[in-house]
Formats: sequence, structure tokens, C-alpha cells
Amino acid sequence: MSSPVVSQGGAMPAGTSTSSPVAVKFTDLGLSEPLLRAVAETGYTIPTPIQAQGIPLVLKGGDLLAAAQTGTGKTAGFTLPILHRLMEKPLTPKNGRPRCLILVPTRELAAQVEESVRTYGKYVNLKSMVMFGGVNINPQYAALRGRVDILVATPGRLLDHVGQKTVDLSGVEILVLDEADRMLDMGFIRDIKKVIALVPKQRQNLLFSATFSDEIKLLANGLLNNPGCIEVARRNTPTELVQQSVHLVPQIHKKDLLAHLIRQHNWQQVLVFTRTKHGANKLAEKLLKDGIPAAAIHGNKSQAARTRALAQFKDSTLQVLVATDIAARGIDIDQLPQVVNFELPNVPEDYVHRIGRTGRAGSEGAAVSLVDAEEMGYLKDIERLIKRGIARVEVEGFVPPERPAGHLPERDERPQRQGRPGGGGQNRGQGRGQQSGRPGKPAATPPRSGSGGPKPAGPKPAVANPRGPRPAPASATGSPTPNRRESHNRPTAALFSPKGGKDR
Ligand code: AMP
Repeated sequence: MSSPVVSQGGAMPAGTSTSSPVAVKFTDLGLSEPLLRAVAETGYTIPTPIQAQGIPLVLKGGDLLAAAQTGTGKTAGFTLPILHRLMEKPLTPKNGRPRCLILVPTRELAAQVEESVRTYGKYVNLKSMVMFGGVNINPQYAALRGRVDILVATPGRLLDHVGQKTVDLSGVEILVLDEADRMLDMGFIRDIKKVIALVPKQRQNLLFSATFSDEIKLLANGLLNNPGCIEVARRNTPTELVQQSVHLVPQIHKKDLLAHLIRQHNWQQVLVFTRTKHGANKLAEKLLKDGIPAAAIHGNKSQAARTRALAQFKDSTLQVLVATDIAARGIDIDQLPQVVNFELPNVPEDYVHRIGRTGRAGSEGAAVSLVDAEEMGYLKDIERLIKRGIARVEVEGFVPPERPAGHLPERDERPQRQGRPGGGGQNRGQGRGQQSGRPGKPAATPPRSGSGGPKPAGPKPAVANPRGPRPAPASATGSPTPNRRESHNRPTAALFSPKGGKDR
């Protein structure tokens, strides 16, 4: 592969953003009738940009490098032409010897990709199989004793099978690395290299990644042969469709504020991100106690529990799903309307991934972040990354309880922000802004002062207040931060002035 990336087949060069240049139809893409019939049944009428550009490229048999985030329709973008190519060239199947291998980082994504293969391939005589760890391996042995044309797998379990000689990768004609950046983040690079060494040299390669680090470029250089390149979303830019806002609130009041928001807005399907597994459990418990159907998913939960929670969330019997970043990676829900960051991630790119769970495939979505004074540094890192400010919005009618949910803040120790020694993580200032019992403050403190700072994004910041606007609360700058115990006993500070943070 040559660098910088050169586009083919009408794709845009890397570094540019693309919206679909021409309104093409699925029937224009060269897909066979059984595939078009299956697509029509899903209700899709217009291919997304990655599909419009990627499907013809893959049908031609070339390699592909695609910068596409989840939510762009990339799964159908590679699944449909793969199905087409495999059915075009039928072979006598050999048991346990797939012709296409799709590697993905997480179990959830594996299950969803394989479900897509089944959906789009329902009128095609090809067999797919999903393979991941954390579940009983026996059904996988059984499936591998039969025909498998398309194998969707996470790298670890795949290599277990390779070691046991229960799968044969010598027949792989097409190799897909989906969410390659995530796979590298999760430390799969050695496993990926092992897998690449096991598949035939002559094959078609498709690589999908939301971001292009040097590591990804290196991987692409080694893997791809004169690829067509497509970029359908700007790097690290959250989709324009997601309305973003921030509620400034001490950690200790977050659980109560979240319950308040869910009720106030009657949110029926909300995905909440916590930084830790423990935090996810505690929050789900608290919401349940408040009568709000909620469950947590994270790596310590059994696969059965994760699958069950996800299924209930998808069919709307579970109102709130609380997830850690890793567990949420494969979550793909059409028209998920609401994401909440219960805590901000310390890696700004994770914010982009999180909010990308809503606003998918053209639907609208909203992402709300609950931000404690201690997290202001993280917030600024995120705003710097996305090159825009996020509107601070005060919450109507939230009166923090005398005894907030959880007597002590439950957030675990956070790692220090990268590149800012001591920044963002040390000041537990509760601020002294808003008094409890005073609902509906005007808020909307601008995220940055001075020229050249990001402009607020998302909803109109000011919230109508029946009592009329009040000036922003006095800054807590310079006031000594109360020690933890004191601050817990002082439920009066519901929301704080963002100026209270050390990082201002
Ligand atoms: P993906 O980026 O593959 O995770 O897909 C995101 C979502 O978009 C999935 O829920 C798909 O069902 C949906 N989707 C894929 N292609 C289309 C399309 N052409 N029109 C509408 N929705 C689509």
C-alpha cells in the first residue's frame, strides 16, 4: 500500500470527509437478485456513502481500506459484496474451512456482524458461523464439523481453535479486519499477525478502522495490496447529527440527577457509560431501586447475561443499559436516541466512539455528559479534539437530595490525563454555585473564554426558567476545596461553576 492514501473508484482521498456524492440505488451497485431481495426486506432504500462507494470496489475483487466509524452502514458495505463474490464462485465446501474470515474486536460485534451476514444472505446458499470466547466451546466444535463459508471471529478464540486444529484457515479467499483500531487498542496485534500468517497469500483484504494511527497505517501497509480507499467520516469527529450537552454536577449527585433526567424527559432507551465495571453495577442497582429498569453490561458479566441485557434493551423492555466502553463497542441499535456519559472518558477519542452509538445511519440522537469539577480537564481535552465547545446546560427542577445516592463518591481513582501533569484529576471541588432547592437555573456557562475557542455545539444552552434568569453562580475559583467528608455533608452544592476546576 502506498501512503498517502490514494483513492480509487470515486472514493475521496483520506483526510477529507465525504457525503454520498450521487444518490445511487442498491440496484445500481451490481449486487445479485437474492441479495437485493434481502436488502429490500430490511427496508433500506438508499445505500449509505460507504456502501455506495465500497460495494462496487469489493465486487471487483480489490483490497479496500475504509475509514468508517460504526453507524455508517459499513457492515452491509462489506457483507453484501462478500456474499455476492462467494456465491458467484461456488466451491464444494469442506467442513470447518471458511472461505471468508471476518475478524472483529468484541463478542457483541461478532454476534452482530454474523447476524448481518444471515440477514443479507438469507436467500443465498452460504453458511456462516460466529466464534468468540467466554462461552462454551462445544457448540463451536460442532459447527466446525460442518460447512462454514463465512466465519466471524474474535482473534483469541479463533487461535484457540487453530491450536486445536478444529478450524482450517487455508481456504480463506477474503479477509476482513473490522474495527481494526479497536483490535489494536485491545492488544490483538500479535494475534492478528498470527492469523495473517495462516491464511493464503493470495486473497482479498478489507480493512475498516475509525481512526488511522501510525500502528494502523503500518498494519495496512503490510496487509493491503494497492487498496481502494474510502473515507466517509472525518477522523475523530462525532457525527453532526448528535446533539451534545453537558450538565455540570458533583459526582455525588450524578445518580440522582440521572434518575431525574430519565423521568423528566421520559427517556425510554438510554445507554449510559461509566468508566468502571464496579461503577456500572452500582449505577444499575441504584436505578433499579428507583424503579427504573436497568442492567449493567461489562467484561465481568457472563456472555449469557450480556446477550440477555442487550436483547431486552433492544426490544425496549429494559429502559437503561449501563455499559463500560469495551462492553459497548459492538452495540448496534437502530435509532438509539440517547447516550449519557455518567463519567467522561479519560481518552478523548472514547467520547467520540461513545456518542457515535446514537445518531446512527441518519437518525437523530442526543448525548448528555454529567461532568464533575474534577472532570473539567477531560472535558477540555474532548472539546479540543472535536474542535467545538459543548453547551453547558442546567437542569430544570433538579433538587439534590439531603442524602445523595451513595454517601461517598464511587468513582474509582482515575488515571491522570495524558499530557497534563496534575491536570483534570486532582481537584475534587464541589464548587459553591447553585444552592439545593433552587430548581431551574439559567446556566449555559460558555465553555471557553477568549477568542479562537470552540463554539458551543448542540442544543440551545439556555433553559427557560419560569423565575427568570439568574446570573451564573459566583465562581468557586480560589476557594479552598472542601475535604471529601465535608463536601459529602454539604448537599447544597448541586451544580457548580466550571471555573472551580484547577484547569481553568
Ligand atoms: P453499521 O455501521 O454497519 O454498524 O450500521 C449501522 C446501522 O445502519 C445498522 O443498524 C444498520 O441496520 C443500518 N443501515 C445499514 N445500511 C443502511 C441503509 N442503507 N439504510 C438505512 N440503514 C442502514
